[in-house]
Amino acid sequence: MPIYSLMTGPDFIVDIDGLRKPEPAPAVPNARPWLAVHWRCCHVYNRIYRNRDGSAYEGRCPSCGRPVRATIGAGGTDKRFFEAG
Ligand SMILES: [Zn+2]
Repeated sequence: MPIYSLMTGPDFIVDIDGLRKPEPAPAVPNARPWLAVHWRCCHVYNRIYRNRDGSAYEGRCPSCGRPVRATIGAGGTDKRFFEAG
């Protein structure tokens, strides 16, 4: 009699069920594309993030709230660093 035939009972099935893996962790929450911005108005730096429809990067100066919008697409730029304000 092969030894593995001893492992086919109900207890073995329960053990396998206990090995079920947990749900995979969600993706990194801040994986949205971003640009670094130098705000000339207040001499500070921060990041602006791509908007929901992916047409532009949008954000505000963290100090004075001045808005900026960097369009994505033809005629745009592939720079990763902007000046605004
Ligand atoms: Zn500012």
